[in-house]
Formats: sequence, structure tokens, C-alpha cells
Amino acid sequence: MTQADGTSFATLAREVEAFVRGPGEAYATAIERDRSVPAQLWTDLRDRGYLRLAAPVDYGGAGLSFTQYLQLLELFSMSHASLRMIVHVCNGVWRSIDQFASDEQRKKFVLPQVAGDLRVAFTLTEPTAGTGADLRASVTRDGDTYLLSGEKHLITFGVSCDYWLLFARCEGSTGKDGTVALMVDRHVDGVRVTPMPDTMGVRGTDHAHLTFDRAPVPVANRLGEEGDGLTVALGGFLTPSRIGVAMTCVGLARRAQELAVEHAGNRVTFGRPLAARQAVAFALAENAADIEAARQLTLHAARRWEAGESDAGALSSMAKLVAVDMLTRVTDKALQVHGGIGYWEGSTIERVYRDARAQRFEEGTNEIQKTVIAREILAAGR
Ligand SMILES: Cc1cc2nc3c(=O)[nH]c(=O)nc-3n(C[C@H](O)[C@H](O)[C@H](O)COP(=O)(O)OP(=O)(O)OC[C@H]3O[C@@H](n4cnc5c(N)ncnc54)[C@H](O)[C@@H]3O)c2cc1C
Repeated sequence: MTQADGTSFATLAREVEAFVRGPGEAYATAIERDRSVPAQLWTDLRDRGYLRLAAPVDYGGAGLSFTQYLQLLELFSMSHASLRMIVHVCNGVWRSIDQFASDEQRKKFVLPQVAGDLRVAFTLTEPTAGTGADLRASVTRDGDTYLLSGEKHLITFGVSCDYWLLFARCEGSTGKDGTVALMVDRHVDGVRVTPMPDTMGVRGTDHAHLTFDRAPVPVANRLGEEGDGLTVALGGFLTPSRIGVAMTCVGLARRAQELAVEHAGNRVTFGRPLAARQAVAFALAENAADIEAARQLTLHAARRWEAGESDAGALSSMAKLVAVDMLTRVTDKALQVHGGIGYWEGSTIERVYRDARAQRFEEGTNEIQKTVIAREILAAGR
């Protein structure tokens, strides 16, 4: 993988920031108003090359290093959560497919996804089971075809995608054994796709509830072997993705802080701007320190992952845990600095506050991150 040199990367970062603060804000207004992501946003992001930043050059990507990509993701995350979601998912999901893809599968799924011509939804969560080894969606084999039955829900882009990257198990298997990762055509027979109601934040992105009843999926669309399903879902892809979500928290917190600093400078009470009150200035100072600490831990985790170090997995969970808790504190204080007007629909901090709450679920809850970290430190202690 190549890496943009310092000058060209700095130019790219300036372009991204100008996009986020200019057209990105216009998209944010439209998304909140219409409660849907305009098709034009996908096209615009694709045409600007923002959906292939993290992929290698020989896949048609920009070939940025992971830490360079994260610096751009911080900027995208200052925008509307749905815009960030498109950038994050498109720049990440190819990794998951690629790990086990055959050359033919790479041509069919990975390269068009990197080009922005194929939309893939990561389809793991189930309404009737825990995420991971507990999953219940199952397949039975009939010659060259799997027949897929079961339910998935909360699936981002699950209505508008071209393929579901879906995780199921061979019927009768338990735990990690017998799990399969399948590229399932959105228009397969035997599926009912129900768009889910509006979410609290991340508005405009569609989410699907899916019910499969013996839906036929070619065995050729399986990534890896039977038994590799959870490795595709949670293996090499999850660590960089968690680090990406941690950086998303940093970017969104930075936006909240910018809004709070601006408001504190402009709003005058009792003859002085809010920023002149020590109580308000200290809240902003705490936010600044909180954001920087999370940013540095996230970049540290990223560098360890780039270097192939064995502690990268635990560090990715630590970064996500710390960054998401930081985001909760920072957005709460930023809203408080705004006073009551910040609670009103139409004020940007109100949207940022709602969007921030979703980060507590993406790429695993805090409870799951703590489980991962605890497992590592207890194993190291033995
Ligand atoms: C906006 C949004 C978009 C999403 N997009 C996608 C998507 O595209 N694809 C996808 O597959 N999923 C998606 N999800 C689902 C998300 O990944 C899950 O919500 C998350 O992993 C938590 O799983 P759950 O909702 O099944 O919670 P549950 O498993 O029901 O857990 C409920 C609570 O109990 C805790 N808990 C559960 N099990 C344990 C345990 N063993 N030990 C301790 N605590 C436990 C959890 O931490 C959580 O706090 C999305 C969610 C949101 C909010």
C-alpha cells in the first residue's frame, strides 16, 4: 500500500475540511429536513474519491495509511452522522470481505465496493440472539445452494444496499463452529425487507429488519470455509473498525466543542459573554483535554495495528471505550453551555447530542469492550 506524501495529504485534508464545513452542512440540513439521505450524497462522496480512501492503490483505492485515513475520518465525523456512516462503512467493509475472498470474489465484490459501485450492508445483529457466537440465522445445504432462514435487525443501509454481508450458522452447529459469512443478494427470493422506524440520531440512513425463509444463496458466495463466519465478522476487520469508531467519537466531540466555544463567545448574560465566566471556561477546558486524550489513545491504537502488534485488539477496545465515554461527557457539557436553546430542534448541538448516543452501540457496547480488555489482561496475568 502506498501512502500520500505530506504535501498531497495536507491538500487532501484541507479539501475534506472544506467539504465538511461547506457542502457537508447543506447535506446535513437536507437530511434532517427530509429524514433521508439524498442519492446525490452517495454520488458526490464517490466522485470526490472519499469512499475509497483507505483501500490499497491496486484495488483502486487512494492507498492512504490507516493513520492518515483516521485524520480524515475525524473531519468527516464533524459532519452529519449519516454522512460519516457512509464514509466509515464504505472505507471499512471491503476489509472484512477481502480477508477470505477468492480472486473471483474479490473481482465481483471487493473492487466494485471500493469503486463505490456496490453497496454492502454488514448484517450481524439479530432480534432473538446475542451478537456473535450466539447467532441463530441458519443455513442448510442443497447441492450448490444454501437455504437461509432467520432474522436480522438494525441493519444500516439494509434496505438500500446491493448485498448483505450476512453471518449465519450451519443448522445444528453451536458457538463459533459452523458459522458462515455469505454475500447475499438484496433481491434474493424468500426474504422480507422491512424498513425500521426513524432512529433518535443518525437520521436519514435506512435500517432494515430482515426475515429469511429458505432464501437460496449460492455456496460460491460464501467467504472462507464453513466455520470461518465469525472470523470474517470479528477478525481482522473489527480492530481497525473499532479504532475508526473511536476516531468518529473524537470528530463528533470536536464539533460539539467548536459549537460550545462559539456560543460561549457570542452569548452575553449579565453584561459579559459566557466565556468570561470561569465555570463555563473550565467546562470548555475539560472538554479540550478529554478530546485530546481520546485522540492520542486512538492514534496509538492505530499505530500498533499498523505495526501488526499483538496488543492492537485490546487497545482498539480501550480506545473505543475511552472515546465513547469522552463523547458522552463532552456533548453533555457542550449542550449545557448552550442553555435551553440548545435543546431545541434545529440547533446543531441538539443534532450532535442525538448522533453521539448511537456511538455507544456501534462496533460493540462498552460492556463488550470491557469483556475484550479484561480477557486480554487476565490472560497476560496468568
Ligand atoms: C444506529 C445503529 C446502527 C446499527 N447498525 C448495524 C448494522 O449495520 N449491522 C449490524 O449487524 N448491527 C447494527 N447495529 C446493532 C448494534 O451493533 C447492536 O445494537 C450492538 O452490538 C448491541 O447489540 P444488541 O442491540 O443486540 O444489544 P443486546 O445484546 O440486546 O444487549 C443489551 C445490553 O446488554 C448488554 N449485554 C448483552 N450481552 C451481554 C453480556 N454477555 N455481558 C454483559 N453485558 C451484556 C449490552 O452491552 C447492552 O448494553 C446498529 C445499532 C444502531 C443503534
